[in-house]
Amino acid sequence: MQPDSPLVREVRPSPNTSARRNGHRVPDMVVLHYTGMATAQAALDLLCDPASNVSAHYVVLEDGAIIQSVPEALRAWHAGVSSWQGASDINSRSIGIEIVNGGHDFGLPPFPDGQIAAVIALLADILARHAIAPSGVVGHSDIAPLRKRDPGEAFPWAKLVAAGVAVAGPSTSLEAAPQDGADLLALQDRLWRDGYMIPVHGRLDDQTRAVLDALSRRRERTPVPWNGA
Ligand SMILES: [Zn+2]
Repeated sequence: MQPDSPLVREVRPSPNTSARRNGHRVPDMVVLHYTGMATAQAALDLLCDPASNVSAHYVVLEDGAIIQSVPEALRAWHAGVSSWQGASDINSRSIGIEIVNGGHDFGLPPFPDGQIAAVIALLADILARHAIAPSGVVGHSDIAPLRKRDPGEAFPWAKLVAAGVAVAGPSTSLEAAPQDGADLLALQDRLWRDGYMIPVHGRLDDQTRAVLDALSRRRERTPVPWNGA
């Protein structure tokens, strides 16, 4: 297996791959995850274990080293049951990046600057080679808000936005969002057009709560009211 990016330090092939399907020949999204495990080694072992049925194209270590486990041409198994822009099978249309970080189970440790710099460089490389827009870079919690919380509220999305490899969504949280009526309907409509799987009916149901929760994880703990933009 040859690395797809010159930024890759090491190749460690995972057996957990298959062909991209449902008409997807090339990726048009990137999904960011945290590993949520005690060590990088434990995460790498899991992602390369044929019994685990999980994999990712890239793993970014805490020191910024980038390991590739699945060729970009193939489908990695990282997204699970997910949805974006009204479509499921996100694995077939995406590149998955696992960022080594303990996550919620380990107290939301900070992501080292060098690790985030490596994530930004890798994203810039991937977006350029596949002509993917920055809006195509999402978190696992954005595409599976009822199931997933990663990469978590400690992940510094603002640094990615500043670097031009992600976009900022509406700045809101469950607490700050309109609770019903035309304002909530407008917010749901905006989020649906952004790509979120959310009903547009002006009511605060479980799916809407989950999406607002996912949004709040992208605010780096400083939710501010949605201003209608
Ligand atoms: Zn994940």
